[in-house]
Amino acid sequence: MKIHNLGFPRIGAKRQLKFLLENYWAGRLTKEGFIESCKQQRKSNWLLQQKSGIEILPVGDFAHYDQVLNATMMLGVIPQRFKGNGDLLDVEFRIARGKAPSGCSCSASDMTKWFDTNYHYIVPELDENTEFNVDLTSLLAEIVEAKAVGTSIKPVLIGPLTYLYLSAGDGDKKLHHLPQLISAYQEMLEQLSAAGVEWLQIDEPILGLELPSQWLLAFTNTYQMLDKGSLKILLATYFSSIDHVINEIKQFNIDGLHIDTVAESTDVENIVRTLPDHWVISLGVVDGRNVWKNDLLATYQKYKSIAELLADRLWLAPSCSLLHSPVDLDQETDLDIEIKSWLAFAKQKCQELVLLKAALETGDIDEISRYSAIGQARKHSDYCEDKTVKQRAEHINVDEIQRPHSFTQRKVAQQRKLNLPDYPTTTIGSFPQTGDIRQIRSQWRNKVIDEQEYQQLIKKEIKQTIEKQEALELDVLVHGEAERNDMVEYFGEQLNGVAFSQFGWVQSYGSRCVKPPIIFGDVSRKQSMTLDWIKYAQSLTTKPVKAMLTGPITILSWSFVRDDISRKAVTFQIALAIADEVKELEENGSVIIQIDEPAIREAMPLKKSHWQAYLHWATAAFRLTSVDVKAETQIHSHMCYSEFNEIMPAIINLDADVLTVETSRSNMQLLNAFEQHAYPNDLGPGVYDIHSPNVPSVEWITNLIQKAQQYIPKERLWVNPDCGLKTRAWQETELALANMVSAAKLLRMR
Ligand code: GLN
Ligand code: ZN
Repeated sequence: MKIHNLGFPRIGAKRQLKFLLENYWAGRLTKEGFIESCKQQRKSNWLLQQKSGIEILPVGDFAHYDQVLNATMMLGVIPQRFKGNGDLLDVEFRIARGKAPSGCSCSASDMTKWFDTNYHYIVPELDENTEFNVDLTSLLAEIVEAKAVGTSIKPVLIGPLTYLYLSAGDGDKKLHHLPQLISAYQEMLEQLSAAGVEWLQIDEPILGLELPSQWLLAFTNTYQMLDKGSLKILLATYFSSIDHVINEIKQFNIDGLHIDTVAESTDVENIVRTLPDHWVISLGVVDGRNVWKNDLLATYQKYKSIAELLADRLWLAPSCSLLHSPVDLDQETDLDIEIKSWLAFAKQKCQELVLLKAALETGDIDEISRYSAIGQARKHSDYCEDKTVKQRAEHINVDEIQRPHSFTQRKVAQQRKLNLPDYPTTTIGSFPQTGDIRQIRSQWRNKVIDEQEYQQLIKKEIKQTIEKQEALELDVLVHGEAERNDMVEYFGEQLNGVAFSQFGWVQSYGSRCVKPPIIFGDVSRKQSMTLDWIKYAQSLTTKPVKAMLTGPITILSWSFVRDDISRKAVTFQIALAIADEVKELEENGSVIIQIDEPAIREAMPLKKSHWQAYLHWATAAFRLTSVDVKAETQIHSHMCYSEFNEIMPAIINLDADVLTVETSRSNMQLLNAFEQHAYPNDLGPGVYDIHSPNVPSVEWITNLIQKAQQYIPKERLWVNPDCGLKTRAWQETELALANMVSAAKLLRMR
């Protein structure tokens, strides 16, 4: 029995890689210094794994920026615009971020979420002219480095089908690259074999989706065609079950399979019975994406007989790469001691595997019993339980959450109350987060300034933001979100049942890391979360100020979530807490309330056949936040992505009075979906792209609104930017909004 890792967090326990990258990009670190420091970081990652009991060290899971980009570099899939002076490190960063310490700038490759995680990968760009040019220099060098640390190592590659599937462009058409891609992989296998590699891990997580038949066929062909020579291949799947494709997989010419036993229920016994009896079976038994201690005793009991059956053909691992887990719980000194005792980060997860292996090998369960008892204490702790919350949530009937008045009735009531012009103008919530604002927040956090001073300073920012919006003559104002650094963290900190770590960082993309809240218990508000700021903002103006909240699905998706009750149950608890805030805002005079749900789409299950069930409760949870408000209270929601087609019925089901979406980059073409599905409520298609510092002209915006009007009648059309403005500077923001308001006024006169 062997313990291995599919991958380990590369950032380091203190986010070392983040600072290396940022120093290198800013010219504070030389290229040689950067390369050498990365080498040290890899070494310390391996040493940490080795010390924690990992017997086969992964190699190639480290990346300067992203592991999919690593594959792109190894395959030499480099579009012309990135090539520049040819320096490969520069090329790599140009692809990732459009610029590098030397050489020209250009537009970066797209970035998108890695399956249903919050990690973003760089989308490979393949076109008719793509040729593959294998270059394993870096990986081969890392193999040498790794062998200096541990005798047993295993390089990791993203598989050809997953690589292709995740690349930009149309589904099936992409498959025509496959023959060349297979040759490229063949060459990689040969080079790795020549370098003395014994085991190679190939990641094919798309096997957990419900793939179209051509892709499944392509899988079987590919994995029969690849000649692995003396290499042994461990095919790694994760994030969902692969039971539905086990009959295909068993025909692959490989030597082992890794399965994720945590993400979904899976029939391990059947899988073992079906696969060839010389294959290694790697069981992903420890959750690589969450932070709870494993119930090792339960895991032991579940897999004891399989372990006996498989003997030395059994490998143990976390369910997926530990990339998605914070590094080391031992660093946490401020966490409540009881909560801390329930947790395991990457290092602790490796140690769990050691305990499990010992028990499986010896049958001695004393130690794992003790360990399990500590983690399981969470399930009976007073900390986690709030009977009132439980009872409230239990009484909800998902099918009955509907505002009592129809949208048509509400629209009349709201217009009577608000008296807005045609083409009402608004923004998505945040205004520029200046250095000053960030400093105010950090001084308050570090207790340099007291609560009273903090309140005054933030109110000053709110006042300025309101004044600027009045000067711009926007119709619906916002307070600007100066008090928030993050739309989920801000609410998480004000909820019971949610904890925060000091160092629980997880890579989001490149040098960006996030520290997700840890939802450990029943959720409720501690007190009102936004009311004071919104009330203050409203006191400064006679125009309506739109209150700004984050929705339950988004809070859920961007957190570590307790696993002792269903995600649905947790979401409903969060929804109730948000509903309490909504009610309080309304009672205190808010007439417009926005509840952002940018995560509703990314939280979709990987298998399409599970979408409906998810969307059913997810949209109900959203409606629950505002089901009790008066007809005249206007509920907005915002989503910032552009592929609505497949989930349009669910978008309609949210029943928001006004929905603002991102559409400007597609030239409004995406509104097609709204027209085709006869979207019934008000819609604010973003009329300019806030991701760019360019100021859109009045003409440009007018033009886009007119395009939008081809899909949505003007009586239901709002005018707003694509997304929040927090990443922009004031100067361009004011210019852009002035043009936006002018465009709306112009159209009103026509
Ligand atoms: N209200 C948020 C903002 O304006 C919305 C952010 C988002 O869509 N991700 O910043
Ligand atoms: Zn957005």
